[in-house]
Amino acid sequence: MVHFVGAGPGAADLITIRGKELIEKADVIIYAGSLVNPKLLDYAQKGCEIHDSSRLDLDEVINIILKAEQDNKTTVRLHTGDSSIYGATREQMDILDRKGIEYDTTPGVSSFCGAAAVLNMEYTLPGISQSVIITRIDGRTGVPERESVEALSSHGATMVFFLSAGQTKRLSDRLISAGVSKDTPCALVYRATWPDEQKYVCTLEQLPQVAKEHNIDRQALIIVGQAVAQSGYELSKLYAPSFTTGYRKGKDVYEK
Ligand code: SAH
Repeated sequence: MVHFVGAGPGAADLITIRGKELIEKADVIIYAGSLVNPKLLDYAQKGCEIHDSSRLDLDEVINIILKAEQDNKTTVRLHTGDSSIYGATREQMDILDRKGIEYDTTPGVSSFCGAAAVLNMEYTLPGISQSVIITRIDGRTGVPERESVEALSSHGATMVFFLSAGQTKRLSDRLISAGVSKDTPCALVYRATWPDEQKYVCTLEQLPQVAKEHNIDRQALIIVGQAVAQSGYELSKLYAPSFTTGYRKGKDVYEK
């Protein structure tokens, strides 16, 4: 049996209880060493076989799993954040399906949630944006044309860019050329929830300079949108005194 587990954004206590318990029981752990906190491996039992997948290719990862299966062992495949976001899990699962190997998935706290938390930020502010676009700039991996930075920016929604910290100049230039104001608030969050975390709030125009000044070109998220300012929003309907919900009868505050 193989358990795909989301490790969370960094801090070792941000894994789920289920994820931690699976680590505790695992015979073999394959973890994404580039961004999974090695402290999580302290939860592993004595004698657990541990592999860092940042040094392995897909075939090598699969071979470790196949060997574990032959020996009737349980494998935990530990991915950064939540494995559904840029986790490259499907390609592993398809091979496991072909081999008739069972697996399941345990979610994790994605870094885009970790980054919002370290900024005490709400992505979906009423009157500002009610959507979050999770995306990346194209690089060695292509992005479909309809999901280009330009196309997605036309929505004016809060945008979270993964895998783009090495291209802040290109990202900022392209967004501004696409019509996004150069004064749009922006956040650069490096290694959110890790002990060496760094976070900066600036404008879209300043972003490349801020990244350069602090030598940030990887392991960071870029958040772009008015929501980053965390101001100018409308109060929620959910908690408005006048608003009736399925759980609470509202009173119209303007009524005498
Ligand atoms: N599955 C992961 C994302 C993997 S892609 C998740 O849900 O978070 C790797 C990219 O995620 C990095 O290049 C960076 O953009 C982002 N990332 C992962 N952990 C991060 C962290 N703690 N702080 C900031 N960005 C992070």
